[in-house]
Amino acid sequence: MALYVYKFGGTSVGSVERIKAVAEKVKNAHDKGDQIVVVVSAMSGETNRLVALAKEMQPQPTDRELDVLLSTGEQVTIALLSMALHHIGVEAKSYTGPQVRILTDSAFTKARIREIDEANIRADLEAGRVVVVAGFQGVDEHGNITTLGRGGSDTTGVALAAALKADECHIYTDVDGVYTTDPRVVPKARRLEQITFEEMLEMASLGSKVLQIRSVEFAGKYNVKLRVLSSFMEGNGTLITYEESEMEKALISGIAFNRDEAKLTLTGVPDLPGVASKILGPIAAENIEVDMIVQNISAHGTTDFTFTVNRNDFARAKNVLEGLKADLGGSTTVIGDNTIAKVSIVGVGMRSHAGIASTMFKVLANEGINIQMISTSEIKISVVVDEKYLELAVRALHTAFGLDQQ
Ligand code: ADP
Ligand code: ASP
Ligand code: MG
Repeated sequence: MALYVYKFGGTSVGSVERIKAVAEKVKNAHDKGDQIVVVVSAMSGETNRLVALAKEMQPQPTDRELDVLLSTGEQVTIALLSMALHHIGVEAKSYTGPQVRILTDSAFTKARIREIDEANIRADLEAGRVVVVAGFQGVDEHGNITTLGRGGSDTTGVALAAALKADECHIYTDVDGVYTTDPRVVPKARRLEQITFEEMLEMASLGSKVLQIRSVEFAGKYNVKLRVLSSFMEGNGTLITYEESEMEKALISGIAFNRDEAKLTLTGVPDLPGVASKILGPIAAENIEVDMIVQNISAHGTTDFTFTVNRNDFARAKNVLEGLKADLGGSTTVIGDNTIAKVSIVGVGMRSHAGIASTMFKVLANEGINIQMISTSEIKISVVVDEKYLELAVRALHTAFGLDQQ
């Protein structure tokens, strides 16, 4: 007898019919004698609808109340799925995150899981029940409801699989696996049989939202056997693994991209020690996360300092910089651009091959796409380009690196 955690995303539970189809799938697995824990997201569109509702009450609702609101989406789905299971003769029991006791820290809207009390779930499984758990939510030590950040149900699934030492964690979604890039943007994208944790972590952190980054971290740390599969069709999906594939030994495994980016530049900054911390200190104090940073060589004793932030933080970051101008002295000016995007190529094959960056830059140049910023690590190269060239850039790179489907 095996223990599986199945996670179903928003589209997979997006209607009454789909919830019923999920119930059938779960019943089939349960009938085979396996123990099944199901983690579900809110029905598709529901979390966005709730965010919009909140903003009608208050432009910037407090994070605590936002979490109280957003967690209701998943609560609806667990009850409906449990009813659908009961209706077809499967004993099932639903749990919200706090009812399981998925203990998190108190960072509302982006809480991290600290501990899971799996005793009740285990007792239900032993009694032959299917357990249905609300994704994306937990409770802090003071009893406050918390949520785990957008896409957080993936992390609930993997964390439960780790806590229960499940044989496998299946992430069922609306695509049949992890692709070389988002198949909705590049129809020629190819499904990968497997991808390494390292590569999947990079892909997720560089914008491939097929898995929430923390779920990949968790799976890597606790050695959870993790597979991404389609809710709607049969297939092997994609296995996330420590092993590098012999079959798919490509230089580049995938291309990730992110539109949620914005760029800020301070020009004419006096080139003195301590300037970077003078600029980024106040940005950090506002809880704004900085991604890429570039400081140019100074020609006349001044320097240009550029960095990127999430597009949602653009206005706030710009305000902080405006406030710093006087303090920095010189002829400092602030320039901002919130119509940029980041494109990244990812692959462990990069380690052993030189010249990949230059190929990437040549491909973009041939398309007439200007590169605004570059950053590299051992297994990825990222560039910032004008948002309007994003899809062109991704498609051209996908073809050039031999990733297109034959
Ligand atoms: P769910 O609601 O099931 O959690 P998500 O929308 O969060 O689903 O994630 C699935 C989506 O991720 C796909 O529909 C696809 O558009 C997108 N995606 C982005 N990059 C990739 C990739 N490399 N491979 C597969 N899907 C990707
Ligand atoms: N419902 C949440 C979201 O839309 C969590 C999830 O689906 O994973 O982000
Ligand atoms: Mg998701």
